[in-house]
Amino acid sequence: MLSEFDLIKKYFTRPTRPGSGVQLGVGDDCALIGPVADQSLAISTDMLVEGRHFLPDADPASLGHKALAVNLSDLAAMGAKPLGFTLALALPDADEAWLDAFARGLFALADAEQIELIGGDTTRGPLNICITALGTVSPLAALRRDGARAGDDIWVSGNLGDARLGLEILTNNLSLSDELMTIALQRLHQPSPRVALGQALRGIASAAIDVSDGLIGDLGHILQRSSVGATIEAACLPVGAALRSQGEQTQLEFALTGGDDYELCFCAPPVQKEKVMAAASKAGVTVTRVGKIEATNGLHIVDAAGHKINLRSHPFDHFALS
Ligand code: ADP
Ligand code: MG
Repeated sequence: MLSEFDLIKKYFTRPTRPGSGVQLGVGDDCALIGPVADQSLAISTDMLVEGRHFLPDADPASLGHKALAVNLSDLAAMGAKPLGFTLALALPDADEAWLDAFARGLFALADAEQIELIGGDTTRGPLNICITALGTVSPLAALRRDGARAGDDIWVSGNLGDARLGLEILTNNLSLSDELMTIALQRLHQPSPRVALGQALRGIASAAIDVSDGLIGDLGHILQRSSVGATIEAACLPVGAALRSQGEQTQLEFALTGGDDYELCFCAPPVQKEKVMAAASKAGVTVTRVGKIEATNGLHIVDAAGHKINLRSHPFDHFALS
């Protein structure tokens, strides 16, 4: 049986990448990070709990990816550049096959996004993964939730609703073709945090948030913080091939209220349209205009003819469902 310290050494200690800004990583009482002139530290924590955020038999490599991806998504939504992260891990036992796969999934994404694991904590307990990510962003250019203004376009990156479709495959045995099933499950298990897009939108977007709990709920946070309303055009919502295999009502419901997409929802004045498109193409991500910010409060969904649509379901809220 591996001791706690052997486990940390074997699976979570690596040389720090030169030029990363990390002066001291795993192994001391604290990590040390060099101050970055004129930049703020952007700090975000997200926890993944077995039975709540993932199923008990979840693949460990995907869990490693996803635990970091959801935190990188928060940095992306702020326009921050990833710097380092800590990993607090409760494990039922020191299962080496599990740890090996988990660390592989985690570090593959960490390497791709150039973020360093700088410390953490390891303890025995029900499986629980808590990551705190640090990034840097100029305080003037950070993409906050409170900057949306009436008349701004509302944009989203990528496609919406695929992760919700993946959950349906796992929990309700929904069956699609192998190809579409793979897309939906991949989107659920291995979301792509839009880190490059977030940074490319600095100075262009007026507000941003990442879509973790469904577009309506997350856009709602921007509306509340910015004291504005919005109209979403249902026909404009970006729906990919997998979700398009479903009926229209399901497409609409999953695209608007499905969780776990980790796309960015952002606002920008219409004059910024060309710059938004250029930022997206630089980041290698599609973006779609889905509506506009209104001066009066409230969020309305309209069809192609401009008529209001009422929805069956509400955005996901961890405490609404016990
Ligand atoms: P402390 O007693 O100061 O809490 P620990 O004995 O818990 O330190 O951890 C030893 C070192 O290993 C620290 O630098 C800590 O940040 C790091 N560490 C512990 N668990 C992890 C982990 N899961 N991933 C990365 N680093 C870890
Ligand atoms: Mg400790």
